[in-house]
Amino acid sequence: MATGFIYDELYLSHNTGPSHPERPDRLRAVTMALQETGLMDDMVKYAPRPASKEDVARVHDERYVQRVFELCAEGKPWIDTVDCPICPESYDAALLAAGGVMTGCDKVLSGEVTNAFCAVRPPGHHAEHDKAMGFCLFNNVAVAAEYLRHEHGLERIAIIDFDVHHANGTQHSFEERDDILVISLHEHPQFLYPGTGYEHETGSRAGDGYTLNVPMLPHSDDDTYKQAFDEKVLPKIEQFKPQFMLVSTGFDPVREDPLAHINLTCEYIGTMTAQLADTAREHCESRMVSVLEGGYHLESVVGCTITHGTALLEAE
Ligand SMILES: [Zn+2]
Repeated sequence: MATGFIYDELYLSHNTGPSHPERPDRLRAVTMALQETGLMDDMVKYAPRPASKEDVARVHDERYVQRVFELCAEGKPWIDTVDCPICPESYDAALLAAGGVMTGCDKVLSGEVTNAFCAVRPPGHHAEHDKAMGFCLFNNVAVAAEYLRHEHGLERIAIIDFDVHHANGTQHSFEERDDILVISLHEHPQFLYPGTGYEHETGSRAGDGYTLNVPMLPHSDDDTYKQAFDEKVLPKIEQFKPQFMLVSTGFDPVREDPLAHINLTCEYIGTMTAQLADTAREHCESRMVSVLEGGYHLESVVGCTITHGTALLEAE
């Protein structure tokens, strides 16, 4: 068995301007890291297919989807907030980003590969039901979870998000449901965007107990993360017994990242990945798809891609 890699050059065409941290060079760093280390040779490369409007509308308001289409086509510079720049290609790139995760899910479910890494942009986890937020247009991981639910009939899907920012959009998509567990490990909302993701946000109605937020204090390091991971994150997944795991992978909790204040090493990103892969092996036949979210320091993106990719390849 092997690891799938989902990527397309169209992801580079989402132009965010000269000084935006969420830039095409991030994905160039990912592919370069995999090529130069030879890891790419061990992965099975797949071209993503675009998500349809209907796929995206399982998560987002149809009027919002239409609005993204129109504002991109009109050549508007940004949508909803100035930190969400768009260009004419952004709509197609965003559909291909969400669809890329769906492609990864298909390849894992068909048994062609054990797990998959989707190197996509624009990222997705801040995107809300009816608005763009935090560099994100469509919530890629949420669209894929709904796809697994509706098109593949899975009943228990776990989303684990270790990007340094709270997975607000993902949480809000599923916080009233008990079929999709959302775990977000992030820098404490008192100190970092988007200001949500407190421990007391645990879901509501049928979803009470199916949202887990693990806020981490600034300057947390590998040891503090390991403790939180072992004591909170892994037991929650084990208790839920998912049939499939989706991982929102952020390379921004590392020390060098300019957007946050968490001090992980790139090695630890690999350790977390390996622990998640072990849990996936135990509960869901190793079925796990990793989706790139943030990560803005290019050398660290290279370092984390190597440790993350190695851990995925080493998973049985
Ligand atoms: Zn982030």
